[in-house]
Amino acid sequence: MQLSRRSFLALLGGLGITSAIGFSRTITDANIQPTITEAAMTTFTLPELPYAKTALEPFISAQTFDFHHGKHHNAYVVNLNKLIENTDLAGLSLEDIILKTAGDASKAGVFNNAAQVWNHTFFWNSMKPSGGGKPSGELASAIDASFGSYDKFVEEFKNAGATQFGSGWAWLVVDTDGALKVTKTANAELPMTKGQKALLTLDVWEHAYYLDFQNRRPDFIATFLDKLVNWEFAASNFASAKAKKAA
Ligand code: ZN
Repeated sequence: MQLSRRSFLALLGGLGITSAIGFSRTITDANIQPTITEAAMTTFTLPELPYAKTALEPFISAQTFDFHHGKHHNAYVVNLNKLIENTDLAGLSLEDIILKTAGDASKAGVFNNAAQVWNHTFFWNSMKPSGGGKPSGELASAIDASFGSYDKFVEEFKNAGATQFGSGWAWLVVDTDGALKVTKTANAELPMTKGQKALLTLDVWEHAYYLDFQNRRPDFIATFLDKLVNWEFAASNFASAKAKKAA
């Protein structure tokens, strides 16, 4: 679009906006219209599930994935793309968008959608077919050192998930002091804004379990721990947290 400064100001005048705003620099196409390349860079896409949507049956059904991944997770991606289009957040990484908007009430919509995109991607990877049970290796030792035993970790994780009032998430994290910790967060909140490194998460929003478990959230949490947890994913997050701390 070709628009001279004069015609741009005339346009503002026509819209009832006077030139008293005081433009001190030349208005050019470059700072009115984003280029197509810039627009393409800002677009997030819905990640594929790391397994087939039937892979976690009978515990989590394909129908749940159709809604939870295909509708809910997708809606967060679509909303985020709309909200950041033509803003100074366009072109940033998902993590940077989350950290820049956290705690800013005027950016709550962007934060909620960006964090929910991150949380859901992290949640799909926190599960695998034939998962669950006790971890092994260094992560198992760290769980024993931080909680006393695996059973004590399970008790804390079940309690966090069951007592998160309304919508939210239960997490296993590396806290700022290096110890492992179980936490819960409300709505879209997530550990990275508190300087914690997430190792594992469970979505305890009703949309995560209602089709398969109805109102039995404690059964959903127990099934996650016994049958679904991807401890290899948690262990790789633990290894990268330790490498980062050592660097
Ligand atoms: Zn969810």
